Amino acid sequence: MQDPLHGSFRSPLNRARAEDASRRAHELLADEGLTRLLTLPRERRDFVPRAREVFVNRNLRMSSIEMVGFDMDYTLAIYHMRRLEQLSFDMTLAKLVSEYGYPPVVGGLLYDHHFVMRGLAVDRVNGNILKMDRFGHVGRAFHGLRPLKPEVWRELYRHKRVRLRNPQFAWNDTLFALPETCMFAGIIELLESLGQRVDYGKLYDDIREAIDTVHRDNSLKREVRKDLGRYVFQDPELGPALHKLRSGGKRLFLLTNSAWDYTDAVMKYLLDGQLAEYPSWRNYFDVVVTAAGKPGFFTEGRPFLELDVSTEAGPAVGEATSLDRGKVYSGGNLARFEELTGYRGENILYVGDHIYGDILKSKKSSLWRTCMVVQEIEDEIIYTDSRQVEIGTLSQVEVVRERLDDEVNHHKTLLNTLERRLEREPLSAEERKEAEELRRQTKAELDRMRRALKNANDIADTLEEDVEEGFNPYWGLLFKEGNENSRFGYQVEQYACLYTSRVSNFLHHSPMQYYRSPRDKMAHEQAGALSARLSPMGGEGPPKGAGKD
Ligand code: IMP
Ligand code: MG
Repeated sequence: MQDPLHGSFRSPLNRARAEDASRRAHELLADEGLTRLLTLPRERRDFVPRAREVFVNRNLRMSSIEMVGFDMDYTLAIYHMRRLEQLSFDMTLAKLVSEYGYPPVVGGLLYDHHFVMRGLAVDRVNGNILKMDRFGHVGRAFHGLRPLKPEVWRELYRHKRVRLRNPQFAWNDTLFALPETCMFAGIIELLESLGQRVDYGKLYDDIREAIDTVHRDNSLKREVRKDLGRYVFQDPELGPALHKLRSGGKRLFLLTNSAWDYTDAVMKYLLDGQLAEYPSWRNYFDVVVTAAGKPGFFTEGRPFLELDVSTEAGPAVGEATSLDRGKVYSGGNLARFEELTGYRGENILYVGDHIYGDILKSKKSSLWRTCMVVQEIEDEIIYTDSRQVEIGTLSQVEVVRERLDDEVNHHKTLLNTLERRLEREPLSAEERKEAEELRRQTKAELDRMRRALKNANDIADTLEEDVEEGFNPYWGLLFKEGNENSRFGYQVEQYACLYTSRVSNFLHHSPMQYYRSPRDKMAHEQAGALSARLSPMGGEGPPKGAGKD
């Protein structure tokens, strides 16, 4: 075996215990009876499709969780995304025309739900919509509804990493905000095609303010409440999942930004009467906090107010000095919550859908454990599973491409060495003949591999594009950007301990489950890792879809 470069860091250990463990590992892995138990036929197991799994970023022992809290909108209440987005789009657009002076033609814009996805950023200065990889490198960019021209992309973003703290960029990380992005691009497309100049920053601010009003003045919620069945998905497994957590000894709480009247209407629709033991949705929860004002809840010091919920308006009746089962509160803050409930830090798991307001802020300001609900996962997993053949072929072609890259470089060096030798060294006729033959052979191999590399690049790009754009023709996959995780995927990985498509997925796990994260692997630990992964594009290429207009 080769000596390590700088000597070995290894120290002699007493190996007796490890040797015993290795022996027991062989026995464990060879235990046929156990293997049979672990591969019971589906009908004898609680079979969970992958799309409904709970995924683990950081180990979490449910046995040490004493309280589980839930956000409401897009968490307990899974909305029919397209219908709610359409409603919010139509109402905001009408407001822009009637109150902000936008021309009537703008009111006729259509909502293209393919054009939006969580995790896009709006460039408020240049009027572009961007999808970034985990490093903030812009992978895809659109101006209006057209891909950015490669030369414009190069000038604006090639040497720029999109930092979300920079006010030039608005980060769209909530499902409520999807219509904004589509509206922003649609209005730019329309007005510029009519030869008008658009002030992108003002347009963005107008849309933000209009959609904010539609939420705050309750006009959107009034429409939703008229037909909850149209907008809210009633999950028959939600009640049983909450019940299972309660049976495991967990106390449950609701912590939502929605106000009391709307919360009550939606929660009633979701849970009332679903299980005989819980006639009212409020029976599931030990603490109910509405209008919580997240993310401020996690960082500010507002008091809890007790509400009188004998009427729908639920007026405040005074500051709360305890958080009691059966009562309803509004406002509040993290420190007071922990003080009044007596539960704190790592013993609390909070389940939410908003990266910033629910997950990132709670993670940074508290020790609460987090689970993010990403309802789009089901769609993405079902889609990628249906494309396994192409994805498998793509991975194989990528491995071949990596090897070819390496071999092409190696052959180039070899050829140079041979040429120098033939030019400079005094060789006998026989040596020269041998070197020339080797040069001919190396050159032929190099040519062949160069052609194969070009072919492999083309195949990989085409397959990658086909797989990504089969999911979304504009933006590709939600969690990926090319070979990298998308900025959104990266944030989910960074801040959420667990993530899953809906709360009811907990039904398929024990309330004492030990959620273990897969072993993390660095690049050098991957099988067959090459020390230099020099992809021909190297993350520096033009955006996907650029120049396809
Ligand atoms: P949660 O997810 O249960 O915490 O509640 C989200 C609440 O925020 C809902 O009541 C939404 O209507 C509201 N909301 C979402 N986007 C906006 C906005 O842009 N402005 C004001 N309220 C919003
Ligand atoms: Mg929410």
